[in-house]
Amino acid sequence: MYKQWNDIINRAGNEGRSYLMEHECKELLAGEGISTTSAAVARSPAEAVEISEKIGYPVALKVLSPEVIHKSDQGGVKLDLKDASGVENAFNEIAGIFSHKKMIGVSVQEMAPPGLEVIIGVSRDPAFGPVLMFGLGGVFVEVLKDITFRILPLTETDIEEMLGEIQGYKLLKGYRGTTVDLDALKNLLKKVSNLVMEQPAIGELDLNPVFLYPRGNIVVDARIFLGEEISSLPARVESKAALNKLFYPESIAVIGASDKPGKLGWNIFHNLLYHRFSGKLYPVNIGAETVQGVPAYPKIADIEDPLDAAIIMVPAAYTLQAFEECCRKGIKMVIIESAGFAETGEDGKAVEKELRKLAESYGCRFVGPNCSGIINTHHRVVQSIGIVEDLRQGNIGLIAQAGVYAAGMLWGIRHTMDFAIVATIGNKADINETDILEYLGEDENVEVICMYLEDVKSGRQFIDIARKITARKPVIVLKSGRTEAGKIAVSSHTASLAGNDQVYDAAFRQAGIMRARNNDHMFGLARAFSKQPIPPGDGVLVISYTGSLGVAAADALSLGGMRLAELDEETRKHLREILPPYVGCNNPADYTFDMNADQVRRTIEIGLGSREISSFIVILQAETMDTYIKEFKKIDFKGRPMLCCIPCKEFAMSEVIDMEQAGFPVYSTPEDAVEALAAMYNFGLKIKKQVGDDEKPH
Ligand code: ADP
Ligand code: MG
Repeated sequence: MYKQWNDIINRAGNEGRSYLMEHECKELLAGEGISTTSAAVARSPAEAVEISEKIGYPVALKVLSPEVIHKSDQGGVKLDLKDASGVENAFNEIAGIFSHKKMIGVSVQEMAPPGLEVIIGVSRDPAFGPVLMFGLGGVFVEVLKDITFRILPLTETDIEEMLGEIQGYKLLKGYRGTTVDLDALKNLLKKVSNLVMEQPAIGELDLNPVFLYPRGNIVVDARIFLGEEISSLPARVESKAALNKLFYPESIAVIGASDKPGKLGWNIFHNLLYHRFSGKLYPVNIGAETVQGVPAYPKIADIEDPLDAAIIMVPAAYTLQAFEECCRKGIKMVIIESAGFAETGEDGKAVEKELRKLAESYGCRFVGPNCSGIINTHHRVVQSIGIVEDLRQGNIGLIAQAGVYAAGMLWGIRHTMDFAIVATIGNKADINETDILEYLGEDENVEVICMYLEDVKSGRQFIDIARKITARKPVIVLKSGRTEAGKIAVSSHTASLAGNDQVYDAAFRQAGIMRARNNDHMFGLARAFSKQPIPPGDGVLVISYTGSLGVAAADALSLGGMRLAELDEETRKHLREILPPYVGCNNPADYTFDMNADQVRRTIEIGLGSREISSFIVILQAETMDTYIKEFKKIDFKGRPMLCCIPCKEFAMSEVIDMEQAGFPVYSTPEDAVEALAAMYNFGLKIKKQVGDDEKPH
């Protein structure tokens, strides 16, 4: 097999081709046990007839030329040739059309009987490596773009999900008596995945079309573009020990700590003091005796005590030197908050390279540059470059490739979100999103993880690590940069369709990550996971002060895979006892405008008596919201979640904050509330399924 590969690839190389012709591709595919219409080469009409007689009519003829990539576009494909004269004519026609091109000959192949057409392709993504595309052929892919992607290698689950994801799934499953062999299709996908993983020389591949039959399938056309192997990822460096020092330091030096309010170096040091960091602090400032009342050191080398971590907040031009001094001092974790590096251009990139070199040679690790600090409320480390007021200890972990999440934005969201750790990663020249994700996956204070990302540096490693974590903890990612950017030149059909965003989408799915549309969505999901338990079942009781919003909630439930709980006789009987006669005992419960807190509390308590009801959506009026908080606190929810919808909540922020801090997440619309509840429910299902799978005998 390998010899065959090498021969074909070498031949292409010698001829200066980075493209394998159909007959070469098919030879390779056949070697992998993939069935194709094969392709024997004929150099003359007589030879074409001879081959045709051997194969048996009807046959297809196709131009074979290293210069022709899209054969039928130019008249290079002749189908359904039924006899010798047909074959002769077809050969001559093709030879005529392509007389000005370098032609190897014509490929003669069996006519595949019609089947359901699909396309399978592979392209290489700069971050994630090989990506496989699957979809129905023809207009489905060309016009409707009904395609789906996965990062290779494919697991059984990936394959299963891919087939189910396309709109055309119904055609695959069979309609009006036609069926296709799904097992054979899955097998083919697996084989393509294996082939590409084993052959790094394959840059892009198109099998287009593949015909699917009730039994088996056949590859009708194939092309492969050889590619330079995208430099494989650097080996992962173990980062746990360094990250312990990042998140749980006992001593921190702050280089550039300032005594002048208004400077970022003032903010950082102020935050550490204000939040009562319990370890030792060492401000380093060449011109100051003390910084904010703490004795200062002119240089890092002047500090005699050992140091767990150092923060660098000096102008970019001095950063490298400051970093080297930290390395010399034996510090193993440095947070570089200075800006002015890769984000400013090539010179900045070069400095980052220098930083990495130094780090490597001294065995030091660093975060940033251009980050805005690390926060761990459970260790009272707050090193943000923006002034951060009081934070509540919480269970949310946030990883952000943007400083605003630890400065700026944090000022507001801290009222309704309780963080354990906020880690801004800046330009991630060393420590990247995957390192921190892995750490937060293990940190017991972190129960839900949010990530804001602009790109993923660590590709496949990110997926593998995230997949392990999402089996236990929810991970929600907001990825910006959905528009096409930084795309490498592509040749194949697949690569032209494999947009950056689709690839990220695939990667997130494979990793079990929930993808957020925007910050509001990400935070809304995080608040739910952070404050409320996972619903144990799909039945929901919706209580509303208005019918219309109750109906909206009900509609949203079915979209999210949940449903309105049925009220049994017992529940109805108890409800009737507490409700006025003009209110029906229904779900959604429409309590009209004179709904009150006591009534809703009692309704929930009655609901908790029914096994049918697993969670609650309560739709309240902003103007009376405060009266409910006290009542809700009295309820023993027995592990069942309640989410609130409060239209116009923006105008009652202080009550919203009270409600949130009492542990009940608040959303503006019923759809948002239900979406968050459904995300929790579906996460719970996934966990249950995994536990079930793990318990099955292997
Ligand atoms: P290209 O994609 O380079 O234009 P193809 O080899 O895919 O050329 O041929 C164009 C179309 O002709 C295919 O999409 C398929 O519908 C049909 N076709 C090609 N070869 C065969 C074959 N051996 N049997 C049946 N149909 C074929
Ligand atoms: Mg084709």
